[in-house]
Amino acid sequence: MNPDRPEILATQVSNSCNQFSLAAFDHLPVAVYTCDQRGYITSFNKAAVKLWGREPQTDQDQWSGAYKIYNTDGVEMSRELSPAALLFKEKTATTDGTELIIERPDATKARVKVFPSLLFDTEGMPNGVINTVLETTGTRELDEKQARLAAIVDNSDDAIISKTLKGFITSWNKAAEKLFGYTEAEAIGKHITMLIPPERIAEEDYIITNIARGNRIDHFETIRVSKYGRLIPISLTVSPIKDRDGNIIGASKIARDISIQKEARDAALHYTKRLETLNAIIKATSEDLDIEKILQKVTDAATALTGAKFGIFFYSSMIREDSPLTLYALSGVSQKTFDNLARAEGSEFFQNMFNSTTAVRVDDIAKDPDDRRRCALRDHLKISSYIAAPVITRTGEVIGGLLLAHSETGRFSAEQESLIASIASQSATGLENAKLYDEVKILNDKKDEFIGLASHELKTPLTSITGYLQILSRLKPDEKSKKFVNKTINQVKKLSGLVSDLLDISKIEAGKLELSDVPFDINSIVEEAVELIQHSQGSHEVRYTPNTLPLMVMGDSQRIEQVIINLLTNAIKYSPSANLVEVSLQHTQHEMTVSVKDYGFGIEQKHLDKIFSRFYRVEGVGPTISGLGIGLYLSHEIIQRHGGKLWAESEPGKGSTFFFTLPLQ
Ligand code: ADP
Repeated sequence: MNPDRPEILATQVSNSCNQFSLAAFDHLPVAVYTCDQRGYITSFNKAAVKLWGREPQTDQDQWSGAYKIYNTDGVEMSRELSPAALLFKEKTATTDGTELIIERPDATKARVKVFPSLLFDTEGMPNGVINTVLETTGTRELDEKQARLAAIVDNSDDAIISKTLKGFITSWNKAAEKLFGYTEAEAIGKHITMLIPPERIAEEDYIITNIARGNRIDHFETIRVSKYGRLIPISLTVSPIKDRDGNIIGASKIARDISIQKEARDAALHYTKRLETLNAIIKATSEDLDIEKILQKVTDAATALTGAKFGIFFYSSMIREDSPLTLYALSGVSQKTFDNLARAEGSEFFQNMFNSTTAVRVDDIAKDPDDRRRCALRDHLKISSYIAAPVITRTGEVIGGLLLAHSETGRFSAEQESLIASIASQSATGLENAKLYDEVKILNDKKDEFIGLASHELKTPLTSITGYLQILSRLKPDEKSKKFVNKTINQVKKLSGLVSDLLDISKIEAGKLELSDVPFDINSIVEEAVELIQHSQGSHEVRYTPNTLPLMVMGDSQRIEQVIINLLTNAIKYSPSANLVEVSLQHTQHEMTVSVKDYGFGIEQKHLDKIFSRFYRVEGVGPTISGLGIGLYLSHEIIQRHGGKLWAESEPGKGSTFFFTLPLQ
């Protein structure tokens, strides 16, 4: 029997259809009507009127109470071909459950299924039809929608599971079977906790509490366990399932296997970390030129990075003349422990550890074939596993070694071994640079020492020459000889000045330039310097308006005069086509400023800061002018030591102004 078909009606209303009234079926939610043998509607219930949208004319409307009827393909159907008419004509019930579309007077349509049955008179002859009409509008779409959804769920790559609020599984798609290993039959009815690792059981409470409140959980990353015990990283989205009345009756879970993403993410993170460490080490080794600091930084970083119990960095440095010295840095191991080992085994022992060309990883010291090493490392340092990486220069010289060790066996991976090899090779570059820097520093110190000695040695004969020349000039020589003697005295003075400057430089470098600290009037010092320069040359006017009030400064007046003379000499030297140099002295309450302005070559901006460095000269501007590039360096040092500032402003081709400040007393 067709369960959709309301058979009962047919029996209840059988026989005389003409006297029959369906008013008794008004309470039914299903439309029911009868027709006589000509097809005129004879009776109908309220649901039929509601469905048709009107009350039919009992002796006018035939076979169907609807305004119009159509096939499901939309083509209008003649009333004679309606299922009820056909049944009456053919007397066999082939039309049961036929679907058609009816149109109401207001042009709205409804999809219906019809179940016509014959009515018989007392002689048993068919005398009409009783038709039951079920509205199916929407149910078909719903069915289709559900079928579509079921197909989506079934074909989804994500595991889709539903469960009751108590956590019992109610549906399980194919992807769930593939991901977790349980078949649908095995999973349905089981508790969801079978997928949750014991240490994460509390997550279920959290999920259920949220679902019961109507909240959705989005992309919750967690771990679930398969039938075979495999731990699977998943991203979980859980949403509440509601019944028609909006009550939450369960939850649907979408679980996505994120093993691949997680692996990729972990790998990216791992490499980022590795890169960061290498970068930090590169930075440490390139920024620092102090070998001991480099050793320490690299040892600390490598120890932390590998999770080693301790790290030791050995470094053989040949640059110090006294003796070949082995430097080292320790991280995580006491000096005393290390000393005991060093004393017992000697430095040769360590050298032997790093005589291979690549890093070596030993997972279990008990298996180290070298007896001496095995015993020494085990007894003194309690090592069970280690990585030893040689530090090799570009020329192939082993200059040290990095040892990372652990008291447990098998603590280092191949990945860490390669990382330590990279760190060792990177530190070789840093250490080489630091070594070069040390060498350059030593050479530089030697050079300064030489300049100091040479200028000192030159000073003594120069003083005698000056003395003899002065005696000569006092001996009343003839005019010509006097002229030569004076010229010689001037040249010797220049030479003395240069030698003094050189001597000063070596004193500055050695930190031995001494300055007196006496109050003096800067006015008179500027005036004296201007006068001296004005008399010793005839090419330029040195214009200066002296201050009337004394301006007291603390310091070394001779050195300050040396600075002013140097600035004036430069101003004249570097403005051969001009004939004026202007000097000014200004002051505020706490500070005085001297400026020396010329109208010479000027200095390009890019050189302005550099001209105060030792031996720096601007080449290629104007004619070649002799000099050593020390005057400004000395002046800068002197002014700085007095707590002042020296700087220059300049416009190439127009001239330069040099300024210096000094604090007033
Ligand atoms: P030197 O004059 O012996 O070369 P300095 O240390 O006094 O050494 O000066 C350094 C450089 O600064 C000079 O070589 C020159 O190029 C530049 N310089 C200094 N004073 C002036 C100036 N007044 N005008 C242009 N260039 C100058």
